[in-house]
Amino acid sequence: MLYSSEIQLPAARQRWQPLSHTLLLRHQVQLWICHLETDLAEVSGNKWLKLKYHLAAAQHEGMAGVFTFGGAFSNHLCAVAAACRQLGLTSMAYVRADKPDPANPTLRFCQQQGMQLHFVDRNSYRLRHQSDFIRRLQQQHPRLLMVPEGGSSADGARGVAGLDLATTPDGPADTIICATASGGTLAGIISRNDAAVLGIAVVKDPSLPDKVLQLLPAQQSLSRWQINTDFTGAGYGRFSPELLQFCRDMAQQRLYVEPVYTGKALNGLFSLIAAGYFPAGSRLSFFHTGGLQGLKGMHYRGLITAADLALLSGLTAG
Ligand SMILES: *Cc1c(COP(=O)(O)O)cnc(C)c1O
Repeated sequence: MLYSSEIQLPAARQRWQPLSHTLLLRHQVQLWICHLETDLAEVSGNKWLKLKYHLAAAQHEGMAGVFTFGGAFSNHLCAVAAACRQLGLTSMAYVRADKPDPANPTLRFCQQQGMQLHFVDRNSYRLRHQSDFIRRLQQQHPRLLMVPEGGSSADGARGVAGLDLATTPDGPADTIICATASGGTLAGIISRNDAAVLGIAVVKDPSLPDKVLQLLPAQQSLSRWQINTDFTGAGYGRFSPELLQFCRDMAQQRLYVEPVYTGKALNGLFSLIAAGYFPAGSRLSFFHTGGLQGLKGMHYRGLITAADLALLSGLTAG
């Protein structure tokens, strides 16, 4: 569906950051990081793009707002809560958690933005993809539009396709790289058909290629694409001390990444470059999908120190 007028989400700015590193010099590979920033850190990155057309649809259909799903530390929930507040839309979420935890920084932020939270156990949460379950929820909330988990849908992919990741300040990129979890971002980049696309999986999910395929538009020429699954480590949200150290090293270069999404994928990309995966002279574009809000939840759970929280968020000089 197309809408005549674009909705007024917080203005997003695209910013290119060149990365210099001995590894890149040795392999004669250029690496550009593409940031998408808004005044609200919680809406920066891919989630803003994935939400854009969902929220436009909610407004277009005269809905009061949206309801969605997410884990207790979800970047998606933060983005939905903040974007809905900006637009004057109601937001509600089903959160995978056994009980409310008022100290959880992610959920506290969501509630501060006015999001209504419902807590569901793991088993009920699993039903979120089933059509009759969704239909029942939609009947319960006739004035709220359902946004799938992570905003990954054809509308979500279409929002991502609006971003030009291929035109670096130095010329066209040969390959565009991003962290991949549910595949919505990857599908959007592929459908734009600018350059080869490489998704680096941050979750162990054998169905990921199928999920991407389902989101790709039919009858349209697509980019060459691939999903690399070598760098998921122990699985989603898990990270090694070495990966955390990599994030710290990047922070020294004023590139702020976290170990669940952007840091894990970028670390994987560095391994591929070291292995000679990209021919000399390659120009790479890495999409910084955001996610720095998640660091607060990692600190809250004791997974990173306060010093790392500040360093990786860009709040202290290294
Ligand atoms: C959600 C998220 C992703 C994954 O995007 P998908 O479209 O689900 O593959 C990557 N990076 C960050 C920071 C995210 O929050």
